[in-house]
Amino acid sequence: MNIENYKLEGENLPILKYPDPVLSKVAGPVTEFTPDLENLVKNMLFTMYHAPGIGLAAPQVGASIRLFVLDVDYERETVTNANGEEEVRMSDFNPMVFINPVITGTSGTTTFEEGCLSVPGVYEEVKRHKSVHVKYQNLKGETLEMEVDDMLAICIQHENDHLDGIVFIERLSNLKKQFYKKKLIKEKGR
Ligand SMILES: [Zn+2]
Repeated sequence: MNIENYKLEGENLPILKYPDPVLSKVAGPVTEFTPDLENLVKNMLFTMYHAPGIGLAAPQVGASIRLFVLDVDYERETVTNANGEEEVRMSDFNPMVFINPVITGTSGTTTFEEGCLSVPGVYEEVKRHKSVHVKYQNLKGETLEMEVDDMLAICIQHENDHLDGIVFIERLSNLKKQFYKKKLIKEKGR
């Protein structure tokens, strides 16, 4: 399928927030490439663009399977339309889908201030590999691979962590990790 068609139509899925237990589970492999899977991808892209975010992993919407979507290229701007109302315009979409991804090689290190749709309001620098080689499947089940660096590499590592039950705050120093865990568990309990 052409995922280009799906960026602006779909269903807005509820995004699970840390410490939801699904976010800590190791997700299982995708074994069937069905219309249901296509539909999930379509809704995940829609949800990601409208959140807005640049990446979304299936466990974040309650599906514990090895799949994530991302777009590190799209532009989003708020404009005032002819009726004087503010509206959000998005353009330059570059949606990507990674199914059963495996990072098969890494090099270098980089740090970037990350955030996560499942951990609202927290932005912290995380150390990652600068470049990664990733093997994955597309929606047809074909195996592909690519070598990427910088923003795309960081995003792939962040989303791939979700498939292993790791939320980015787990990658922070012990002190910060304990601080955020306590804070977020307390807020969730309210
Ligand atoms: Zn995330």
